[in-house]
Amino acid sequence: MISTAAVVDQRARTLGVLRLSLTARCNLDCSYCRPGATDPPGLMTLDQQLRLIRVAATLGAHTLRLTGGEPLLSQRLLPLLEAVSRGRSTLGDPMRGLRHIALTTNGVLLTPNRARLLRAAGLDRLTISLDAVDGSVAARMAGLRGGQAAGERLVRQVIDGVMSAKLAGFVAEQGEIKLNAVIKKGENDTQLLPLAALARRYGLELRLIEYMDVGNRNGWVADQVLPAAEMVRLIQARWPLQPLGRDSGATANRWRFTDDRGGLGVIASISEPFCGDCNRLRITADGQAFTCLFASEGTDLKPVLDNSAALQQRIAGLWLHRSDRYSEERHHHLPRSSHAEMAYLGG
Ligand code: SAM
Ligand code: SF4
Repeated sequence: MISTAAVVDQRARTLGVLRLSLTARCNLDCSYCRPGATDPPGLMTLDQQLRLIRVAATLGAHTLRLTGGEPLLSQRLLPLLEAVSRGRSTLGDPMRGLRHIALTTNGVLLTPNRARLLRAAGLDRLTISLDAVDGSVAARMAGLRGGQAAGERLVRQVIDGVMSAKLAGFVAEQGEIKLNAVIKKGENDTQLLPLAALARRYGLELRLIEYMDVGNRNGWVADQVLPAAEMVRLIQARWPLQPLGRDSGATANRWRFTDDRGGLGVIASISEPFCGDCNRLRITADGQAFTCLFASEGTDLKPVLDNSAALQQRIAGLWLHRSDRYSEERHHHLPRSSHAEMAYLGG
């Protein structure tokens, strides 16, 4: 019998968000992410994913975020959403505790039909990533060959994806569509105002993310991080902003434009770490659990994925012993020999 006790870690943090990666593969090759070409062997089955979601909900998760790699590449996405939706409406199912089901996507495959199917299958929120409005900058950031024309095509696809989401019933003004952008100093910081203008035009919240030292392949150097405070300063000089603060457990420090067109959130993982109330459990597509984005190794859940009680015990134990706060301690760490990649971890 599954208990419903919330788990608390060594720093008094509770589990709140399950980030489940559906694939490590991607149809883009962003310079700050650099996904691998293939999935690891032994992807979880649908039953295992559902068991995991139920166990996480039992242990206190109120939000499920599906991610990757590019989750729209996964054939599993719709059946999973449909099964979660059934769980959320079934009396006694722990999934009833899930308040939000969200998806992070690069938007390339977000056609009108796909957006409609996602909404019908029970998806509540979409976060769509786009790092530039200018075609040549977008192509460089996304690792596309084909220069400006390829970048312009990408920007068009993403904007069309936003329109498809709106037509499918996702309401941007209620926070159901957000736009993510990673900002690399000297690479796409010229795009801050164009991205903000785009987000404002479509009523979206723009989430500006500091470039993070996740993975081994992106060649991260601290000099390429544009601090979030600087991003806010540049945008505020163009459109007045009012601070809304950061909700407990959330990643973004939020602002409203005083004319109420769109919104702004900044994710200052490097300059203002928020490890103190981190509530995120990340599970890779092959069933490795990570409590920190910056960890080198995960905990293998595969041996217990077919047994709810054992799985609950393993995850509860992992969370109870958790004490990581890498971002807050970044400057004390020696360079690490290996880190898990972002596209594998699920961002
Ligand atoms: N492919 C989807 C997408 O790009 O939205 C989902 C997976 S992606 C790994 C999730 C998020 O992580 C994206 O918004 C992406 O911009 C962000 N991301 C990836 N690498 C990053 C890095 N090194 N620093 C900061 N954010 C990063
Ligand atoms: Fe793909 Fe997302 Fe990584 Fe870009 S950030 S390469 S879209 S997984």
